[in-house]
Amino acid sequence: MEIDLQDLGWNEEFQREFDRIAKPGWEPVRLIRDNKITYGGLNAEGYELEVLLSGKVYHDASCDAELPAVGDWVAVEQGKDEDTDDMIRARLPRQSCFSRKEPGKSSQEQVIAANVDVVVVVTDAGPDYNPRRMERYFALIERSGSRAVVLINKSDLFSDEQNQAAKDELQLLNPKAEIFITSAIEQEGLDVLKRFLVRGQTVTVVGSSGVGKSTLINQLMGEDYQFTSETNETTGKGRHTTTARELIVMEGGGMLVDNPGMREIQMWTDEKTLRESFSDVFDLAEECKFHDCKHRGDKGCAIQAAVEADELDPERYESFLRLDEEIATLNKRKKRRQMAAEKWAKRSHRVKARNLADRIELEREERGEE
Ligand code: GDP
Ligand code: ZN
Repeated sequence: MEIDLQDLGWNEEFQREFDRIAKPGWEPVRLIRDNKITYGGLNAEGYELEVLLSGKVYHDASCDAELPAVGDWVAVEQGKDEDTDDMIRARLPRQSCFSRKEPGKSSQEQVIAANVDVVVVVTDAGPDYNPRRMERYFALIERSGSRAVVLINKSDLFSDEQNQAAKDELQLLNPKAEIFITSAIEQEGLDVLKRFLVRGQTVTVVGSSGVGKSTLINQLMGEDYQFTSETNETTGKGRHTTTARELIVMEGGGMLVDNPGMREIQMWTDEKTLRESFSDVFDLAEECKFHDCKHRGDKGCAIQAAVEADELDPERYESFLRLDEEIATLNKRKKRRQMAAEKWAKRSHRVKARNLADRIELEREERGEE
C-alpha cells in the first residue's frame, strides 16, 4: 500500500510547526505504537521506523500526558548509520487530544490518542444506555477537539421506538453529535464507520464492554487483519490480536486507533469541563431573579421556568442540581490524586532517572561528548 503524509493526516498546520523547528536531517513521523521504551512510527514513505525518545523531549514533558503518544506527529532525526537510533527530537503541537483518567488507582490523565478527528462512542438502547455517562463522553470529546459520533448498536434487540427514543435524547444532549442506529451482527454499522474513515482522518472507537466494538472492528478489518487462534469464550469467534493501542492505516483510507484497553473506559474530567457541558443551564441561571437562586423552587427561577416551558429537559435539570456534588467529589479526588502523585513522583523519579541515564548516555555518545 503506497501512502504519503496526507494519508497519515498531515496538514499545513503541522507543516508550519515542523518547518519552525526542523533541523537538517529531521523528518516528520506519525507515531502508531507505544512500545514503552521505543515507539513505532510511519514516515512520509509509509515506512515503519522504530524511534527513541530523546532526553530533551522527555525532560520537557511536565507530566505523562505531555509525552509523545500514539497519533502524535514527531520530528525524528534519522540515525547516521545502522547503529545509531532514530531519535524523536520534538513533538508537534496536538490538533486534538483524546484523554481519560487512568484505569485503576492512579488518577493521572492518560492520552488515549493524539490528533484524533472522530471519536465513535458505541452504546445501545438497552442495558448500556446511560445519558449521564454519554454526557461525560460528549464533554470529553468536546474538550479533545474531535467530532462526536454515536452508534446505538444492537438495534436488533430493541424496538424501533426504543432505539429512536435513545437517539432523540442523545441528540438533544449534543446537537452536534452524529448519531446512528446500528446492528453489528446484521452487518449494519460498518458503513457508518467507513463513512468517517476517509483519507487523512483518524478515528477511534470507544464504549463500555460488550456493546459490540470488537465485532465492528473485526468486520472492518475483514480478512486482512490478524485474528487470534484463540476464541472468545462468549462468542466462540476469534478476536483480533492487538493488545496495545495502535494506529492502523486502513486499506480503504483513513486510520483507526484501536483500543482494546478501552473496554474499561473511565471518564476523566474536570470542573471546567463539567461546567462547560452545562453552559446552557448556566446561561439560564443568569436570568434568575435572585443572584443567590438555588434553582430549587425559588421565586423567579429561570431554570425552573425553562423546565416548565419544556425548554429544558427535567433530567438535565436534575443533573445540573447534582453538579455541585459532582464537583465536590471531583475536587476531593483531585486532592487525593495530588497527594498520590507527589508520592508517585518521588518514586518514579528514581525509575525515570535510571531509564533516562541510559538514554542520555546514548545521546552524549552520539554527540561525541564524554
Ligand atoms: P466489545 O466488548 O464492545 O468489544 O463487544 P463485542 O464486540 O465483544 O460484543 C459483545 C457481544 O455482543 C458479542 O457476543 C457480540 O456478538 C454481541 N453483539 C455485538 N454487536 C451486536 C449487535 O448489533 N446485535 C446483537 N444482538 N449482538 C451484538
Ligand atoms: Zn434559578
